[in-house]
Amino acid sequence: MTDTSHPALSIVVPLYNEGGNVAPLLERISGALARLPADLSYEIVLVNDGSRDGTLTAIRNEMKGRAHLVLVNLSRNFGHQLAATAGIEVAAGDAVVLMDGDLQDPPELIDEFVAKWRQGYDVVYAVRRTRKGESAFKLFTAGAFYRIIKRLTKVDIPVDAGDFRLMSRRVVEALRRSPERHRFLRGMVSWVGFNQVAVEYDRDVRYSGTTKYPITKMIRFAMDGITSFSDIPLRFASYFGFTVSAIAFIYALIIVAFKLFSLKPPGYTPGWASTIVTVLFLGGVQLMSLGILGEYLGRVYDEVKGRPLYLVSDIERS
Ligand code: UDP
Ligand code: MG
Repeated sequence: MTDTSHPALSIVVPLYNEGGNVAPLLERISGALARLPADLSYEIVLVNDGSRDGTLTAIRNEMKGRAHLVLVNLSRNFGHQLAATAGIEVAAGDAVVLMDGDLQDPPELIDEFVAKWRQGYDVVYAVRRTRKGESAFKLFTAGAFYRIIKRLTKVDIPVDAGDFRLMSRRVVEALRRSPERHRFLRGMVSWVGFNQVAVEYDRDVRYSGTTKYPITKMIRFAMDGITSFSDIPLRFASYFGFTVSAIAFIYALIIVAFKLFSLKPPGYTPGWASTIVTVLFLGGVQLMSLGILGEYLGRVYDEVKGRPLYLVSDIERS
């Protein structure tokens, strides 16, 4: 590469305990990049997100034999979205491709990304036509999530698209100016705007290792997505409260009418069923509303603290 300070293309890969995937990943990326026009300089930014396996050693090993590699070593595990953010911020390319390190995102698609970028698109995102090797549960919950968030927000977040995408320099700069910490990158990129285009692909199975997104992290991630892009859940309590009050008011009128005409109102029979149902139901709704408030409040608290999003331990280049 002639110009290390300013490559045309940066490939950013966050890695957490992906020791067995580093070598095959770089092999596949190199193969894919070889098919690009020869004048296109590149760098591959590998973010080690506090891995506890041989990931760091594997990266350093690869750096001995390969040029254009940038290692961003974080001080600890910050999570996928923040590791990706760190990589994007280090990346110097005119275009930045973000992809997973487990070969679920085929590097061969970079070719198509670059072609679209050269046609003038600012964001080329990959939409999963099929997903191999995922449990029925993950497919169902992910499918439901993308459709729910679409209804909850005005930002046009594409359905079934992950973080595998190419972003132009001005999109990357826009992300850098968005300091929020509960990051839902795919939504933030949609929010940026400009010209965005989808490319379809079949998502492969993980090359080796296991998913770093157990159900608890998946739920957190979904909550981050929804709370960063919608305040509709926050209004839920007021809508619901209004509806219940309206029903209660009508019911009260009916009771008064029954009383006036000396009739027995429905539910007059001494019994606790209707009472207990109402109490439990409203109690549940109140707790849920409090929980929703808590979700937002916790995030406000995190933002207000204003800590750095991540800490870099060192950056090495080959
Ligand atoms: N990842 C990371 N930090 C984490 C969790 C995951 O950098 O705390 C990386 C991981 O190494 C992989 C990518 O994020 O490159 C996506 O994670 P994974 O493949 O486990 O997610 P899945 O494909 O199962 O949704
Ligand atoms: Mg994966």
